[in-house]
Amino acid sequence: MFAPQTPLRLTPTGLVVLPLGLVAGATALVFAVVSQSDRITIVSPAALLIAAILVYAAILFFLGRSSIINLRVIEARAVIDPLTRLPNRHALHDDIEQSARRGDEVALAMIDLDSFKQVNDHYGHAVGDQLIEACAQMIRAACAAEARCYRLGGDEFAMVMSGKVAGTILEGISRSLLERMAAPVKLEQRHIAVGASIGLARSMPDARLTPSEMLRHADVAMSMSKRGGKMRCTWFNEAFDQRRERMREIEDEIRAGIEGGEFHLAYQPLVDATTGAIVATEALLRWDRGARAPLGPTAFIPVAEDSGLINPLGLWVLRQAVCDAMRWGDITLSVNISAAQLRNPDFPIKLGEVLEETGFPAHQLELEVTETCLVLDPEVAERTLDVIRSFGVRIALDDFGTGYASIGFLRRFRFEKLKLDRSLVELAGVDDASRAMMIASIALARALNMAVTAEGVETEEQAEMARLAGCDQIQGWLYYRALPTQAIDQLIAAQAAGQDPAAIGIESEQAA
Ligand code: C2E
Ligand code: MG
Ligand code: MG
Repeated sequence: MFAPQTPLRLTPTGLVVLPLGLVAGATALVFAVVSQSDRITIVSPAALLIAAILVYAAILFFLGRSSIINLRVIEARAVIDPLTRLPNRHALHDDIEQSARRGDEVALAMIDLDSFKQVNDHYGHAVGDQLIEACAQMIRAACAAEARCYRLGGDEFAMVMSGKVAGTILEGISRSLLERMAAPVKLEQRHIAVGASIGLARSMPDARLTPSEMLRHADVAMSMSKRGGKMRCTWFNEAFDQRRERMREIEDEIRAGIEGGEFHLAYQPLVDATTGAIVATEALLRWDRGARAPLGPTAFIPVAEDSGLINPLGLWVLRQAVCDAMRWGDITLSVNISAAQLRNPDFPIKLGEVLEETGFPAHQLELEVTETCLVLDPEVAERTLDVIRSFGVRIALDDFGTGYASIGFLRRFRFEKLKLDRSLVELAGVDDASRAMMIASIALARALNMAVTAEGVETEEQAEMARLAGCDQIQGWLYYRALPTQAIDQLIAAQAAGQDPAAIGIESEQAA
């Protein structure tokens, strides 16, 4: 719509001086010609003056017109995104305001691409730009004549509709857009899968929101879509605000808790499936919250991950666990690692430092990662895991059976160990299909040279099934719960002295 062009810029002084100069020059030229030629009749001063005025007016007209065009170009640039030619955030604010003034229901959908950053990182910004343009096309097509679409910047787009049942129609448009976006986009020779997460918000005639408030609602709803697993749309709900507020509080409490030394580690032993001897311990993070309501790791770790606090916290876990495990002889130590830690380029360096400082044998350390850690950014994860492995540290895939890990995925990452999730172990005890799945998973792990641990084993039947299916290790309350460091000291000392560790009375985690 707006071809790029260099606007002709003139200052107000220029606007006066330039035409005057031109007129003066033209007049002087005429006089010069007249005075040097005896064949040309002398022009009367009045006619000359009229000619000068006409030239001056023509020049003013020309300059005025080009200034208006330039102004329009500048004005358009302020509301049009140059890459996609879609209206931008300013235009969105104006449009929402205007629709609200007409007294209509206004609905807004905020769209955020799910893996744009990875595309930019892996294929470069030129491909990233092409992808943005391709997505803009899809959004334009989904809106058709019903809704207006905008690019808000980066990988964020928006759609706006106004009128009766605008929200319902916009939700339908959003769902069909997600369907289109589920298919990979073809860019030159590449097929790139980029999904999107959508947040929906509305402003009703009897409960008007400002454009900024509406955008905030849609943004909060969009982040809930991301948190809920992406490729979905979510309507804003007041409860999200309260939840956000609570998350912010927990984040502040975690920060203070790290400073105040409120975190400690518990360790859950893993036993050999056939002998029942303790062969490994898994470090599990605990938070002493004093009189405040207790919070388990499944509640506070996602907050630490979102805020980036998992980096200092996770490093503390690693260092502390390695220091504790130095006392436990040849027992393997397992430490859980979050996606954010794995993405942090400093992580392998810090890990190397911890191993060097403590002298802990790298082959006795096992890092547990989950599938989500790896699918978010498989190439970065693969590189990081290669560096970690080069130290001699082993990698275990945690919670297997809860996600979508394919055979290709398992082959690609070549885990040293697969940990079957508690849900799989539990269901295998009650339904045949789950049992078949568990047996097949173990056979697959074996074929790929991976060791297998069954997690969350609570009954003798589950333990027997895990053993028969070929698990090497078992972890679960049937054997041991997560225990304080001193209890692990006692268990391992008993085992080293040839006693049965399970037979000695140990302090439970809660009692410690
Ligand atoms: P996970 O790594 O799969 O750890 C096993 C979880 O299952 C632990 O819960 C453990 O207490 C529980 N569990 C073990 N055996 C049984 C059983 O027989 N029955 C039942 N019902 N539960 C059992 P916990 O300690 O609450 O930890 C939950 C999750 O939090 C962990 O799952 C892990 O994903 C995460 N987590 C814990 N500590 C850390 C940490 O230091 N860093 C990171 N990134 N994540 C951690
Ligand atoms: Mg684990
Ligand atoms: Mg697990």
